[in-house]
Parts: sequence; C-alpha cells; structure tokens
Amino acid sequence: MSSSNVPSPRRKSVGVKVGPVMIGGGAPIVVQSMTNTDTANELATVQQVEQLALAGSELVRITVNTKEAAQAVPGIRARLDDIGCHVPLVGDFHFNGHKLLTAYPDCAQALAKYRINPGNVGHGKKRDEQFSILIEMACKYDKPVRIGVNWGSLDPEMLARIMDENARSSDPLGASQVMHKALITSALESAAKAEEIGLGRDHIVLSCKVSGVQDLIAVYGELAEQCEYALHLGLTEAGMGSKGIVASTAALSVLLFRGIGDTIRISLTPEPGGDRAREVIVAQEILQTMGLRAFVPLVASCPGCGRTSSTYFQELAESIQLYVREQMIVWREQYEGVENMSLAVMGCVVNGPGESKHADIGISLPGSGETPVAPVFVDGQKTVTLKGDHIADEFRAIVDEYVRT
Ligand code: SF4
Repeated sequence: MSSSNVPSPRRKSVGVKVGPVMIGGGAPIVVQSMTNTDTANELATVQQVEQLALAGSELVRITVNTKEAAQAVPGIRARLDDIGCHVPLVGDFHFNGHKLLTAYPDCAQALAKYRINPGNVGHGKKRDEQFSILIEMACKYDKPVRIGVNWGSLDPEMLARIMDENARSSDPLGASQVMHKALITSALESAAKAEEIGLGRDHIVLSCKVSGVQDLIAVYGELAEQCEYALHLGLTEAGMGSKGIVASTAALSVLLFRGIGDTIRISLTPEPGGDRAREVIVAQEILQTMGLRAFVPLVASCPGCGRTSSTYFQELAESIQLYVREQMIVWREQYEGVENMSLAVMGCVVNGPGESKHADIGISLPGSGETPVAPVFVDGQKTVTLKGDHIADEFRAIVDEYVRT
C-alpha cells in the first residue's frame, strides 16, 4: 500500500465565475461564509459582511427571505462598494426565491450568485415551474447558481420515489445509502434540469450537505465521481465550539486530501455574542494546515507542561498569532508571499530551540529553573537572546523587521 503526505491532485471541475472569484476549474479553493443578520437591516448586514470579508471570506452569502430583505440587497451592495468592500454577495433563497427574484430585479442584479435548495422550491407541478423561474432568472441576469441540497430539507417526492425503487430492488440499499443516493440524485437531476433550461455548466456549483462526518465523506466521494460540476463543501449544522470545528475539519480534511472540493464553508454555531468571523478563520486554517493555500503566517507553539515557568509563553503565542493576523491586512498588499512565513513560540529548552530552528522565526522562552533568557532563531540561526520585561515587544519588532526585509 502506498502512502503520501501530499494531497491528491485536485479533481477536475468546470470553473464557475462568481463576480471576479473563480470556483473550481483549477482555481484556489475559495473560502466563503454567511451572515446571520436580518438582511432587511442594511446597516447590520453591511457591517457583518465587511467583518467577514476583512477576515478573509472571498464570498459572503446573505439570506434573502422576504420582500424587505430583497429590497435591502441593492443598498447593501452599494454601501459595501462605497467603503471599498467588493466581496461578491450570494443570495440564499428558499420557498419564495422565484417570486423575489422576479419582483425585485435590482436585487437579482446586485447578487453575484444565487443559492437554490431543490428541496425547498415547491412541490409537484409547482416545483418544476418555480425551479424553472429561478433558473430563468439566473440566465437572464447571467448569474451562477449553487444547487444546494441539504439532508434536512430533501425533496420529499424524490425521496419517496427513491425509497420505492429501493424497496422493489432485488438488492436493496441500507437506510444511509438510500439517503446518500437521494441527496446525489436531487443535486444531479436539478443540475440537469437547469442545463436543459439553458444555464451553462460553467454557471452551476453543487453541494450535498449532511451533518454526519462519515456520511459527508461518502456522499461527496460519490458525487465527485459522477459529475464535473464545481463542488461546494461543508458539513451542515456542524455545531458549536470545538465540536463544530473538529467535525468540520475531520470531514473536510479527508475530502480535500482526496482532491475533492472547490469552495468551503464552515457552518459553526456562534457562541451568543460570539465572533461570526471565526468560521472564516477556521476555514482558512483547514486549508493552510492541509498545505492547500496560505493566508496568514501560522504560529507553532508547544502545549506547555510542568517545565513551563509561567503562562507568559502562552500569552506570547496568542498575541503573536493575533498580531500577524491583524498586520496581514497591510502586509498582504506590500509583501508578496508573507503568508507563507512560519513562526514558533516555545515554552522551554527541551523542544524550544529545535522547533524554533525549523520556523522562519522562533523563540524559546525560559522554562522553570532555566536562565531567564529567550534565544531567538531567524532562518535556523540564533540571532539574539532576549531578556527582561520587553521580550514580547522586541520579538514583535524582529517579526516586523523580517517581513520588511
Ligand atoms: Fe514542556 Fe518544554 Fe515541551 Fe513546551 S517545549 S511542552 S514547556 S517540555
């Protein structure tokens, strides 16, 4: 059995342009996110879109669920442009998207992409009619569409048909395989229908979201084999805090390592009053730790142990990571490739010098019982030994200097 620490080549997919951002077609994997403001509240939505874009979200999805929300979309786009935030906006439509896009052409025009859930378009004849209207709107305004299937809102008629076929099969599938088949069938049949109506393959992105890690891996593995559409990856309803991060990372890492996925969204439930931009940071960190993209210099640091003399090194590691993230807004413009820089902040002499030498810049803080000095390594060489009360400031200055030169 062969093994490799290099991800498989990216699966070939048809590129889809969303404003200036390319999804698939060999383009870098796109990070996207979604607001949780009431879209009708223009100011709050503009603020959150800007916050997500500044954190690094390359597309931002907003709910368009009412006429007030649809009416607000052009104003949101204009306000964002006025403040120099040109991140493409994706409209999330359920149930009444056909009506809103028809009634509010300025909204249809201001959005860069529409997300349609085939399970929430309507039922029976109405489903076909309403789905057709949505696709015709996308054709009319030359907008790409994500056909986003979700296991929580599968088209019940399609699910019943697949269950019925399975029951009559001589080799019936198990319950979870039936669900996988229903998700994939819904996405592929809807995409085929969209193409029949006139939407180009280069205007279609697919997703099939579930909340189980193993299910997500199985579904996307099959979907990837069955089509060339660009794929949006995400574990739906991933959950809060570490559970949401771990589950999303576990699922997406396996798929990304296999070369599957053209854009990702991490669906974290924020803590009350929590920072919505966290989902963007997690998405970036997944891609960066997988070696697929680089966004911000990452800080390696040890966990600390009984040899750690204080919490000082943890505070330094955290403050340096925050510092480089903040500085990236400026650095990115001026210093090409700075996102690839690696940093290390270590707690004592056991692994400190070794790990620090492997980073572009590393510092080994004094552990308990060690001489209170902190050697700094730049490009593998010890350059200076810091001591006293200003180690953090002096280390930041060394990082700044390294970036500038
Ligand atoms: Fe503990 Fe030192 Fe290892 Fe950090 S580097 S975990 S402080 S032994």
